[in-house]
Amino acid sequence: MIVGGGAAGLGVARGLQHPLRKAGHSLTLVSTENVFLYQSILPEAAGGTLEPRHVVVPLRTAVRRARVVVGEVERVEAAARLLHLRGVDGDRFELGYDQLVLTPGSRSRTLPVPGLSRHGIGFKSLGEAILLRNHVLARLEAASQRPPRDPRRRAALTFVFVGAGYAGVEALAELEDLVRWAIKHIPDVRAEELRWVLVEARDEILPEIGSGLGGYAARELRSRGIEIRTGTRLDSVEGGVVRLSDGETFPAETLVWTAGVKPEPLAALSELPIDDMGRLRVDAAMRVDGHEGVIWGAGDAAAVPDLLGGGFCPPSAQFATRQGKRLASNLLATLEGREVEPFRFKALGVLCSLGRYKGVAVVLGVRLRGFPAWFLARTYHLLQLPTLNRKVRVVLDWTLALFFPRDVAALGSLHDPTKAFERASKE
Ligand SMILES: Cc1cc2nc3c(=O)[nH]c(=O)nc-3n(C[C@H](O)[C@H](O)[C@H](O)COP(=O)(O)OP(=O)(O)OC[C@H]3O[C@@H](n4cnc5c(N)ncnc54)[C@H](O)[C@@H]3O)c2cc1C
Repeated sequence: MIVGGGAAGLGVARGLQHPLRKAGHSLTLVSTENVFLYQSILPEAAGGTLEPRHVVVPLRTAVRRARVVVGEVERVEAAARLLHLRGVDGDRFELGYDQLVLTPGSRSRTLPVPGLSRHGIGFKSLGEAILLRNHVLARLEAASQRPPRDPRRRAALTFVFVGAGYAGVEALAELEDLVRWAIKHIPDVRAEELRWVLVEARDEILPEIGSGLGGYAARELRSRGIEIRTGTRLDSVEGGVVRLSDGETFPAETLVWTAGVKPEPLAALSELPIDDMGRLRVDAAMRVDGHEGVIWGAGDAAAVPDLLGGGFCPPSAQFATRQGKRLASNLLATLEGREVEPFRFKALGVLCSLGRYKGVAVVLGVRLRGFPAWFLARTYHLLQLPTLNRKVRVVLDWTLALFFPRDVAALGSLHDPTKAFERASKE
């Protein structure tokens, strides 16, 4: 039984499906959606270079030999080897297991900032990426309908991103590229009116790639007119006004929160052992403390010791995918009475795209920037994307994007699709 069809869970399922079938065992994958989301290329779905459906892979085609159950696991009852689930219709039911793998991933880590939960937009799911894209394009339309000196026009054209890790920087860079293209078709909105602000509490952006390349990325973003506020926090976002810790306040109708992640609370709710950050406590072979040989954990939700880098593995797809593969081998070894092996992986590097043809990367110690970094990031993500079907579709999207302009269609009605029919039925 695997809980979570993400980077780690899919890695486990793909590693187990054939050997388990041969050995006469069954494999079940439970996840809240029937797709795997490849989060690393989510910014491109928001920016319009990728068709949103192409950044997800149906779980049933990715792991054909597993039974897929769509639902949310609310609690694990370890003593009875039972999962308590809520299905797609809200019905509650239970599933038993012999071996359990927990990979529920992480969710946005927020802070008690006034107004944040109401006005902030997260950037972790496909729904949020589509919502953000439509919201940003709708702000351009709104601005074009407001008089030039109306302060609400300035608010519509001000976009604030909080958190300058790779998710925030990539999302901002893609959307800024999209908006620059979109306003070519909206004569009422001028490029000088746009304001992009990147707020980061630490002293540098992209700390994952080192200050040299982070500095390059900052210069590249600044050359595009993006304001970078390091050493600054968001104090509040209320009534369409953003207040920063340096005292500045300004109107803004878009606030994107990408300031880190925290583990899904499933382990805590199940009274399984967790560390002070809420991550499942596991050993280097990814066996849960006190439940060795029965419950396993990997990915963002588990504190997997990083034997080569020290401390614990970072929450990244690069680590989660490899952990999934190692966990599958260890689980099989346990079933067959063989020795398990500890997870050992040295990060290959970090890749960050800064919009079309631009990027920064450190790969195997080699630092790259500009087009080579952007090209490498794309090639890497293509190799990692599961199934040939999705690889071909993504290559086609990228190839078409070379010949055609960005797609600026706003599909705002997606967020309230029943409204038109409801109105028609009341007439
Ligand atoms: C915008 C963005 C860009 C990123 N870019 C990169 C990058 O360039 N490189 C990189 O290495 N990493 C990147 N990451 C991080 C990377 O995507 C994550 O670290 C990785 O996906 C973690 O894998 P996981 O399997 O632990 O969790 P996930 O991939 O999040 O999968 C968890 C799965 O569990 C399911 N689930 C959760 N709770 C339950 C429950 N109670 N019951 C049933 N199912 C449940 C979820 O629906 C989901 O399918 C990025 C992340 C984001 C958001």
